[in-house]
Amino acid sequence: MNYSLYDPEADYEVISTVGLKHSAFYLTGPYNSYCFYCEMLKSCSNCFGCVALKNRRYCILNKQYTKEEYETLVPKIIDHMRHDGGGAAMNPSGATAVVTASGGASGSWGEFFPVVLSPHGYNETVAMDHFSLSKSQVEERHWRWKDRTEEPSKITRIIPAAQLPDSIQDIPDDILNWAIHCEVTGKPFKIIKQELEYYRRMQIPVPRLHPDERHKRRMAMRNPRKLWERECAKCGKGMKTSFAPEKPEKVFCEECYLTEVY
Ligand SMILES: [Zn+2]
Repeated sequence: MNYSLYDPEADYEVISTVGLKHSAFYLTGPYNSYCFYCEMLKSCSNCFGCVALKNRRYCILNKQYTKEEYETLVPKIIDHMRHDGGGAAMNPSGATAVVTASGGASGSWGEFFPVVLSPHGYNETVAMDHFSLSKSQVEERHWRWKDRTEEPSKITRIIPAAQLPDSIQDIPDDILNWAIHCEVTGKPFKIIKQELEYYRRMQIPVPRLHPDERHKRRMAMRNPRKLWERECAKCGKGMKTSFAPEKPEKVFCEECYLTEVY
């Protein structure tokens, strides 16, 4: 998983960074290098387990060390993490996160921040789209779950989706003061001004389904994150593909595909 916005170099498992070099397990903040398990740094290098520092070098857990101390301590921490069992949990007070030593075979070094540290509910993230879990399965793992309040605020008038005019030209501005009752989920949802302007400009009818239902249907059109062994429909060569064998689409190997398309 690498999501680097601009000019990355030799990074591993990083999210939302700019100009990040030779770093890993890093979250947000620009122009850092040789940083590991850090978040929101700016113009730092050689930092380990730090958060929200600016123009600093050789820090561990936000504490300043000399270059020599840093280079002695970090390999020891990494070695400890290699053997810490990889377990991670909130401590009983819930105030700070601690990595627990549970004595398992694999350690936490080389893994991204543990899920227990995520400020988001599992069901709010794209993880839910690809690896769907129930609330109890999520809570068993001590991960966060958020029950969302679905009702738009201040609804006084609700129109059933079936009663919406088909043509965008027949939708009055007053639609912004109404909630639409989704035909499938039964949940109400609202249209915002910018959205209405967009539908009018593009000549698109107002949606009748709740945004969550629309998202679910878009996701269902994608192939699952699974690879099948199949043969190229042209040359017969063995290949891996995310198109299941029973799907109607023809699949070509890369070579045949490129010859056919270009
Ligand atoms: Zn082929």
